Amino acid sequence: MRKLPRVLVVEDEPSIAELIAVNLRHNGFAPIVVFDAEAAQRELDAVLPDVILLDWMLPGRSGVQLARAWRLDDRTKAVPIIMLTARAEESDKVQGLDAGADDYITKPFSTQELLARIRAVLRRRAPESVPDTVQAGALVLDAVAHRLTWEGRELKIGPTEFRLLHFLMKHPERVHSRTTLLDRIWGDHVFIEERTVDVHIKRLREALGPAAVMIETVRGAGYRFSPRALASEADARSA
Ligand code: CA
Repeated sequence: MRKLPRVLVVEDEPSIAELIAVNLRHNGFAPIVVFDAEAAQRELDAVLPDVILLDWMLPGRSGVQLARAWRLDDRTKAVPIIMLTARAEESDKVQGLDAGADDYITKPFSTQELLARIRAVLRRRAPESVPDTVQAGALVLDAVAHRLTWEGRELKIGPTEFRLLHFLMKHPERVHSRTTLLDRIWGDHVFIEERTVDVHIKRLREALGPAAVMIETVRGAGYRFSPRALASEADARSA
């Protein structure tokens, strides 16, 4: 299995640290939480993380002092740092970035914003390490590892069906015409009959097995990926 990106969270407020860790874990990251500068340094000496979330106000050495020291150290200078702080002053922001932080986020922040910023720094530093998975029920598509699993078991799927499913899963509960799918999956330079889409949808359904109920045919319009269809089928079965 692909290694999850390690995020070192240096935050002395346990409730904030825990909230961040839970959200990171749910979104495909491996968080390591430490509460002070000394523990952060020990962790860095042991294993380099893929990104560091660094609180500004820490007991002992401040986040800014730590960032500056890590930037000067050959071993740690390339690890992206995102500063977390309650200080929203422009001069503070400049000081944080001058100390070597890659980005800066002001408390209180939304989980979505935090995740977006982590992904952005990882994409700049190490594009291959950013998780790109979509999930619908027990169906999980990992676009980076090019892997599709249903209830944890890997499904065999052809490359075109994989791209088709990836597009459908990213745009669920919407009807896509055959023309749209041809444009988005095959590109618009290639002349292919619309019937080709039907052939690949058929193969996709075969590959999906029980998860195929999520691929709905909308008569006269096209196809729709509907996780709701899976949920309602499960309800019907348990009724
Ligand atoms: Ca703090």
